[in-house]
Amino acid sequence: MSDASTEGPYDVIVVGSGAGLVGAYVAAARGLRTLVIEKTGYLGGTTAYSGAGIWIPANPAIIRAGVDDTTEAGRAYLDAIVGDDSPAALREAFLQEGPRMIDELEQNPRFQRFIWRGVPDYFAGVQGSSAIGRTIFPPDLERSELGDLEPLVRRPIWTERWGVDKGTTMIGGQALIARALLAFMETGNGTVHINTGLEGLLVEDGAVVGVEVTSNGERVKIFADKGVLLAAGGFERNGELRRKYQPDLGDEWTSGCPGNTGDALRAGMDVGADTALLDESWFAPGLVVPHNRPVFYTTVWSGIWVNDAGERFINERLPYDRAGHEMRRHHLTSDVAHIPTHWVFDQRQIDNDGFGTLPVEPQVPGWFDVDEWLEAGVLERADTLEELAEKIGVPAGNLTKTVEEFNGFARTGVDEHFHRGEAPWDLMITKGPQGPHTDGSNPCLGVIDRAPFYAAKVVLSDLGTKGGLKTDQHARVVRPDGSVIKGLYASGNTMAPMTGRIYPGAGGPVGSSMTFSYIAALDLAGA
Ligand SMILES: Cc1cc2nc3c(=O)[nH]c(=O)nc-3n(C[C@H](O)[C@H](O)[C@H](O)COP(=O)(O)OP(=O)(O)OC[C@H]3O[C@@H](n4cnc5c(N)ncnc54)[C@H](O)[C@@H]3O)c2cc1C
Repeated sequence: MSDASTEGPYDVIVVGSGAGLVGAYVAAARGLRTLVIEKTGYLGGTTAYSGAGIWIPANPAIIRAGVDDTTEAGRAYLDAIVGDDSPAALREAFLQEGPRMIDELEQNPRFQRFIWRGVPDYFAGVQGSSAIGRTIFPPDLERSELGDLEPLVRRPIWTERWGVDKGTTMIGGQALIARALLAFMETGNGTVHINTGLEGLLVEDGAVVGVEVTSNGERVKIFADKGVLLAAGGFERNGELRRKYQPDLGDEWTSGCPGNTGDALRAGMDVGADTALLDESWFAPGLVVPHNRPVFYTTVWSGIWVNDAGERFINERLPYDRAGHEMRRHHLTSDVAHIPTHWVFDQRQIDNDGFGTLPVEPQVPGWFDVDEWLEAGVLERADTLEELAEKIGVPAGNLTKTVEEFNGFARTGVDEHFHRGEAPWDLMITKGPQGPHTDGSNPCLGVIDRAPFYAAKVVLSDLGTKGGLKTDQHARVVRPDGSVIKGLYASGNTMAPMTGRIYPGAGGPVGSSMTFSYIAALDLAGA
């Protein structure tokens, strides 16, 4: 590597300031001199964009809320859904250490007590699945409590992408990052460098002993006596890596934060790390909006999705990662294009609910302006379904037949093809401000018959890539022969996922990112 000045040694270096901040706090709280380096000018990564739902079975916050859950039930649920791509030892480490992590964080007044909110697990009807879920959230935090640290925290996604005022109260991922940052700095053992990006790992005698970074334009070697935790997110914002590992996808539709360009993945591979599941992401349908990346889209209140043949192919209310996987599977295995998908709905949707319960929509006054959307070419409108079909290029006969059939299901309350409205998740958000949009008994099915008719574009978006460096159950990065690379740890989306190809419930990514950052910190502290 190049000539560079040196810094350190610290005990621990954490690369990336998303959920890795939890690991940084836990290490620093155990007396380890801990440095966090962050490539961008803000701390928090995609974690700061997130709702900070945290999925951990039998954690103290849900037990306190009176939810009937056990580690055994969580284990049975994961066993039933993950398939062969998830290492059992990692799942067990997650199940054991996740609740302990929440317990430990709650002992610090900065974190206060996490709050359970009933979000059903994403797979219903399998052993151990919970209809009221295992997802907890951090309490909100007043921005003023951060004092001088406030400008460091990454802005909410709706501020960064749509310019909406960030407000005085931090919610979701903003609150989580802010709380972790306060706790970390108050240990007295924490240092943060922003605008400092990992370039490569320093190795001596086969062990990682530090990092080489570019910090505000300067090359610096920073040393760590105990080890380096790579918590630098995925590679969702790197078009080249995306096309290499996910050739059917680019980087233009992701909701991941700008810094996540796979630098830590590359650095780990350069020192011999094994990888897994680089073709995977935390998928989500993305509603294409004017002049920006698509909106992460969790709820279809009314209408249907059709492919280029004008046919439905999915329960449109499937949990987002499952919906995304289905879109991708159909698109790759059929002659008919399924991406973009056409979301076809009628005037009722707009009269009742604007444009659905989108995460950003309530924050953005006038965000859904029909004329602007039509002008930008991301929305089509027509007085008849036949005309709409022509505008979006699908066979008119097929579209009218599909809508007639769906209207029949709405009236009887049974979606005979895709069973929309039968799972607890489907039912979680079932009505707009004006009430349920249905003529039948199923609140997830509403007839499509009030002109004009509309079609919006739904692409395959993601919350970040998911595959990464393989680790053992202590979050230690391993080589293809299974041996540990001494001094190197990974967590979050830099790490090959504990959950394999599936997304168990709301809070899967943040829950596992926090837990494996915690596990790495315990190992680094010799605990
Ligand atoms: C709108 C939205 C809502 C979501 N809601 C939820 C939710 O409620 N629950 C949930 O579980 N998941 C949610 N997700 C997904 C979740 O936020 C992410 O999967 C998760 O936060 C990733 O955590 P991480 O720590 O791996 O990476 P990140 O939080 O993205 O942090 C990685 C950090 O590393 C930095 N970095 C990258 N390269 C370098 C380098 N070379 N040197 C130094 N630093 C570097 C990045 O700039 C970034 O700050 C949501 C995502 C979105 C977009």
